[in-house]
Amino acid sequence: MRLFRSAIALGVFALSAFAQEEHQKHAYQSDVARLRKIVINSLYSHRDVFLREIISNANDALEKLRLSSLTEPDVLTGAEQMNITIKAVKDGESAGRLIITDTGIGMTPEELKNNLGTLAKSGTSEFLSRAESDDSSGNGNLIGAFGLGFYSRHVSFLCNIFLVADRVEVASLAARTSKNPAPAQYVFSSGADENSFDIYVDPRGNTLGRGTEITLFLKGDAVNYLNEQTITDLVNKHSSFSTTFPIYLASKR
Ligand code: ADP
Ligand code: MG
Repeated sequence: MRLFRSAIALGVFALSAFAQEEHQKHAYQSDVARLRKIVINSLYSHRDVFLREIISNANDALEKLRLSSLTEPDVLTGAEQMNITIKAVKDGESAGRLIITDTGIGMTPEELKNNLGTLAKSGTSEFLSRAESDDSSGNGNLIGAFGLGFYSRHVSFLCNIFLVADRVEVASLAARTSKNPAPAQYVFSSGADENSFDIYVDPRGNTLGRGTEITLFLKGDAVNYLNEQTITDLVNKHSSFSTTFPIYLASKR
């Protein structure tokens, strides 16, 4: 871990591990190379699953917000809406990006690090050993062999994202609570082939009223996921029954 600026030097703010100006680089843990290899080799034909996993997390984050609003009324300030938006950017400087935003509970920088930096979830080594020795998982059917539930309990949603994207940026603004009354928006950023990830204050400021924005920089062979019909079909097929909150599709030209 490399700290560009030490939080301890900031006196009274030392209580918070992340100071405003901080930019941190962290290494992923050791199972990650092994995990990536097996996911890439065996999941390509199921790579659609990335969208379902992102939407499922967005829905969980909105559900958590709703729950915490019962005891912490402040969490609802910032963005009153509770929804999920999918935006496909087809033209201009940012062409090729798919952006999924939710107005859920959001993540603090510590949560970005702990929740997203753990590509290999608990029990991953065991899962990998099984997957590596299983014939059916080697020929493109990891999910078929183990089931999506089992698979997603062991493999972080970010692994699926790297099947369709070269790079991912997750910007998040945590909901306001009594313990965290003035949260700041941070970004988690990582490339598909990198062994580390970065976390830094969002240079754009607090652009999200609250919640999380996941920007996928789609691979050249995955630009079909910018197609509105493809997105709609995927959402209808995998997420329409399991999602409580509205999902909007916004197209940016
Ligand atoms: P799981 O959903 O099984 O916990 P995932 O790999 O899908 O595992 O996600 C890892 C963690 O990242 C989640 O448990 C959650 O804490 C965090 N997370 C992911 N997406 C979001 C989001 N949109 N908003 C808030 N937290 C999120
Ligand atoms: Mg999930």
